[in-house]
Amino acid sequence: MKKTLIKNLEGVPQTKLLYFKDPYKFKFKAEILKKWEVNGKMYIVLDKTYFYPEGGGQPSDKGYVSVEDKKYSVVDVQKIKGVIVHECVPSTTKSLEGKEALGEIDSKRRVSNMRCHTASHIVMSAIEKVKGKAQYAGFGIEEGKVRLDVQTEKITPEDLEEIERRSNKVIYQAIPVKTYFVSRSELEKILTGLHWAKEIPLEEKVRIVEIEGFDKSICSGTHCLNTIEIGMIKVINKFRLQKGVERIEFLVGEEAVNETLDYMNKLSSLARKLNISAEEIPNVLMKLRNEKKRMEKEIEEMKQELTESKFRNLISKKELIGTVEVVTGLLREANAKTLGRLVKKEIEENENLFIAVGGLSGKPALVAGGGSQLIKKGLNVSQVVSEVCQTLGGRGGGSKNIGFGGGLTSENIAKAVEKVKERIVSFIK
Ligand SMILES: [Zn+2]
Repeated sequence: MKKTLIKNLEGVPQTKLLYFKDPYKFKFKAEILKKWEVNGKMYIVLDKTYFYPEGGGQPSDKGYVSVEDKKYSVVDVQKIKGVIVHECVPSTTKSLEGKEALGEIDSKRRVSNMRCHTASHIVMSAIEKVKGKAQYAGFGIEEGKVRLDVQTEKITPEDLEEIERRSNKVIYQAIPVKTYFVSRSELEKILTGLHWAKEIPLEEKVRIVEIEGFDKSICSGTHCLNTIEIGMIKVINKFRLQKGVERIEFLVGEEAVNETLDYMNKLSSLARKLNISAEEIPNVLMKLRNEKKRMEKEIEEMKQELTESKFRNLISKKELIGTVEVVTGLLREANAKTLGRLVKKEIEENENLFIAVGGLSGKPALVAGGGSQLIKKGLNVSQVVSEVCQTLGGRGGGSKNIGFGGGLTSENIAKAVEKVKERIVSFIK
């Protein structure tokens, strides 16, 4: 809304910013200096205001402005060249300039934003203390949830726990949050170790927000008067935005408490279902995971044994075509790796043997192999397998004496085995 408003603000004096003085004052009286309407919305400038304008990552206040018993909703507040503009609905054609207005700030929204904003200073400082070096890179508040972007080294899960612990400790130490203005020359002296501003503001007086013994930042937002008012901080997410920039998301105050209670209740409910205590959950889960791994390994071994036994059975049923022994078949529990090993061993031991077997465990695969006499006569097994599989929509590869085919369904694998056999029979004859 900013650009469209500037032309209406010529000659309007700067607004007295009272939210700096008392962030807990939610009702006030002021004089309307200017009022105009655009597209059903009304814009009001007061001589002084407690409404916080959107800025520095903190959303604007909302609430009401009442004039002569008529209540208007304040839906947005912006600061333009030192003037605070209150966007209100509905609009009125009445002249309101010079009249007294009663301002009422949505205190629940404001208090939540103050808690979030103060919490951000604490988390920022905690990151710096845990990581050694950190630089503020961005910040946003949305209904009790904060996202904070920080330039720092990778934050590990252990770092995150430590950051959360230190931040909550600062809350329960109930440290007063002081705000004051310093001149630019004073600022130079305390500049090292200051957080928050991406760049130093141009104003002659710069506002400092100090949590004694923990953090000192340049900031124009609204804050709690004491860290205890924040209640609680609960980290919920961490992302790596890019190399060297980490994003942390956390809940503040009531939202943090509710989220934590929900987690605890979910754990208790799970523990009851498992008939154990909540403390036992990590151990029980680790045991279950190890047990699952052990069983998977056992099943795999059993499958291999079964494959080997069935494979030997197939070999025993070999068919003599000319001077070549031909073995074909399908094994439901075999995978390409095991079949490859078994086929290789057989063709090394029998130079007049040809095998084509389909394995259906995992991704269906065809494995074929030819003994050395066949290769000497010009057989290229991988070429035969590739050509056959391609006609069925799959693919193949391998070497002259052993070929692998894949990318086929179970049904097509059976067809592929038959077709490879046909090709070999015609090769022999
Ligand atoms: Zn701040």
